[in-house]
Amino acid sequence: MLRALFISLSESRWLRAVAEKSILGRRVSTRFVAGPELEDVLRATKLINQNGATVSVDNLGENVTNAEEARASAQVYHRLLDAVSSQGLQANISLKLTHMGLDVDESLARELVSGLVAKAAALKSFVRVDMEGSPYTQRTLDFVHQLHRCPGNQDAVGTVIQSYLYRSEKDVNELLAAGIRIRLCKGAYKEPPEIAFQNKSDVDANYVKLMKTLMTSGIYHGLATHDERIINEAKTFATREKISPNTFEFQMLHGIRRDLQQQLVKQGWRMRVYIPFGTEWYPYFMRRLAERPANVFFIAKNLFRS
Ligand SMILES: Cc1cc2nc3c(=O)[nH]c(=O)nc-3n(C[C@H](O)[C@H](O)[C@H](O)COP(=O)(O)OP(=O)(O)OC[C@H]3O[C@@H](n4cnc5c(N)ncnc54)[C@H](O)[C@@H]3O)c2cc1C
Repeated sequence: MLRALFISLSESRWLRAVAEKSILGRRVSTRFVAGPELEDVLRATKLINQNGATVSVDNLGENVTNAEEARASAQVYHRLLDAVSSQGLQANISLKLTHMGLDVDESLARELVSGLVAKAAALKSFVRVDMEGSPYTQRTLDFVHQLHRCPGNQDAVGTVIQSYLYRSEKDVNELLAAGIRIRLCKGAYKEPPEIAFQNKSDVDANYVKLMKTLMTSGIYHGLATHDERIINEAKTFATREKISPNTFEFQMLHGIRRDLQQQLVKQGWRMRVYIPFGTEWYPYFMRRLAERPANVFFIAKNLFRS
């Protein structure tokens, strides 16, 4: 129930406007967000790299309502790719198609994302197209398949699959047939029982099933989860099937289970941390509360302490 409540609050435009402008809101957002500026995320990336993990940077924002906003967010990603390259950081980028104007003008989104993938390809970097709610699933997959087919883009673009969707096994098979890199996650949105598993045990079981398909595919994928039981299952499976630790990576979110992130690095597994930055933190932050409502109490406790 709390998960559903936080997810519906995450969609409130009014609350978003109030929260993102308030000083208190900006203070609590630092629990999961590197900071408002590009320099904040570059600093956080450097630190994570020094600790042996790579990074994927997310310029926060989604569902922009005009072309100027979409162009501005693409520009931020261009600056980000340049800075990552010139500073020799180990980081790629993650973006949302609705942040690139998908709801405003699909051809504009295509132009902006193609430009970023071309730049990433030239810099030997990578663009991960995040997966949003189910109204965008097919459009995102079509978009990524098309981008991936363009000459030069093969190693520069990939997408995300959510194990809570019934359709994901079929989507995985189609992406693998095209040679597209996948980040596997459980899924962060509220989806109805007609299209998505509702019980955690079913979502987890589907995650493990898809995870094993990815790990034996011969393509480099990301396993995005903080679920220690699933991570242990991946490690055991890799050891048993003689899958090299260099052929896939674990991925976690900035500020969540740092202990486990460090432990995996020390054990010789590849680890990538997803670091968001920017001023439009509200929907992202509320989805993190939805995943673990107990976060509300930790955040409140820390506020009173400081
Ligand atoms: C790198 C990365 C990229 C992602 N990209 C997408 C995407 O493109 N689309 C999408 O729909 N979802 C995305 N997600 C979110 C994902 O779908 C889940 O909502 C999120 O990862 C929580 O699920 P879990 O696998 O950690 O397992 P859960 O079963 O939710 O949690 C397992 C354990 O992890 C810890 N944990 C999980 N979440 C939190 C939290 N917020 N705060 C504190 N502890 C927590 C707790 O210890 C919990 O018991 C991404 C996640 C990661 C790690």
